[in-house]
Amino acid sequence: MNRLIPVTQVATNPPSHRSSDKIYPRSFSGIYRRLRIGAGAMLFTLYFGTVWLNWGERQAVLWDITEKKFHIFGATFWPEDLVLLSAILIICAFGLFFITVLAGRVWCGYACPQSVWMWAFLWAERLTEGDRGQRIKLDDSAFSQHKALRRFLKHSLWLLISAGTAVTFVGYFTPVRDLAPNILSLELSGSALFWVFFFTAATYVNAGWLREKVCLHMCPYGRFQSSMVDNDSLVVAYDASRGDPRGSRHKGSDPSAQGLGDCIDCEMCVQVCPTGIDIRDGLQMECIGCAACIDACDSIMEKMDYPKGLVRYASDNELNEGTRHILRLRLVAYFLILVTMIGLFSWALMTRPLLGLELEKDRGLFRFNGSGYIENSYLLKLTNKDIETRHAVIKVSGGEGINMLGPSRVILRAEEKREVPIILEKAPDSLVSEVTSINFEVSTVEDPEKRFIIPTTFLGPINR
Ligand code: SF4
Ligand code: SF4
Repeated sequence: MNRLIPVTQVATNPPSHRSSDKIYPRSFSGIYRRLRIGAGAMLFTLYFGTVWLNWGERQAVLWDITEKKFHIFGATFWPEDLVLLSAILIICAFGLFFITVLAGRVWCGYACPQSVWMWAFLWAERLTEGDRGQRIKLDDSAFSQHKALRRFLKHSLWLLISAGTAVTFVGYFTPVRDLAPNILSLELSGSALFWVFFFTAATYVNAGWLREKVCLHMCPYGRFQSSMVDNDSLVVAYDASRGDPRGSRHKGSDPSAQGLGDCIDCEMCVQVCPTGIDIRDGLQMECIGCAACIDACDSIMEKMDYPKGLVRYASDNELNEGTRHILRLRLVAYFLILVTMIGLFSWALMTRPLLGLELEKDRGLFRFNGSGYIENSYLLKLTNKDIETRHAVIKVSGGEGINMLGPSRVILRAEEKREVPIILEKAPDSLVSEVTSINFEVSTVEDPEKRFIIPTTFLGPINR
């Protein structure tokens, strides 16, 4: 049976790379940085690009709050489809569980919006205030014109990214092609203006000021990662058996002669860490799996002419016993659950009824019409959830001799909602009970095999 990897709670002494509580991550190039940039660029392109895509006449992805409809490419979800939308969230959660068991917090490091926006804000910071050393110096320096200018440029860039993020976000709820010109002509509605300001402020504070604190104190995922990863999960790890004892040395000297391992104790892996931890202390809750420390350490190993991989993606078993099992019961179980849920979701999506029906019975019990017949009134609410016109056919079954006064065919345009008043009448002497069970049957000309049946009652007096 798999053991869980112990997640270390490290000492709270402020490390040397911090100035008070602020973390100044050093920038470092390497393969994992390139991967992160690629993943971030993909997420940015998806986020900022999808909102401008059209599907037919309409915005491809739009949560229309006023109409209470969610359009996602060709499909439209209505409030009654909420269970399907919840299923998407559950599938995403199981996808995350699967990925975590397989490769730790790889989601956090490469694709989580909080991390991606944080990297973008760090890039803006580096561009305007310089790399780690220059930023520390600037923070420690007295107020000057140079400092004010750097600060102004940084915050302007942050606000620009935040405003773009906010407008795009609001654009997923209000047609973006109306929203953008309204912003430019300052004709934005009060609520749209509020949400643009709100999300601008939220992005600016989250990615600019809170940064890793969101991952450390607000995101629940980091808290339960320790119960998800096992000793075969791939995590960012320091190979202590190779690196310890740590110590500085001259390049080319023999570390074993000095009783040292491969770690030169340069702390570069700590300086690049966006959450300010030392990976050499073991897997920690604060580690978001970004692999910046791998890039940093690999470049040091290269300079020292040591083999790379002192800090690398490895499992606990791989480091301690030299073995790694990819296929594990827990991983297979998550995979099977995931595949089953995706299958069920696809089936439910494809077979969901594209005709919505609701029936309201008139509050009055019954009445007599001019011909002496008993009348009951109903209101049939029809919703065409399809993106094509449908022709609904309405019938009444049960209760001999009931006539339907009202349209038996209704044309429903794409995504149209119609209320159809219907009156049923029956001769008083044909009534055998005060309450007669009947059914409204609705089908469509396009799909006559699929019938929707709504049971209801016809009321009338006996022995008048
Ligand atoms: S320890 Fe390494 S992988 Fe973890 S957050 Fe820090 S830099 Fe990223
Ligand atoms: S970067 Fe590598 S060599 Fe330097 S302290 Fe970290 S683990 Fe040791």
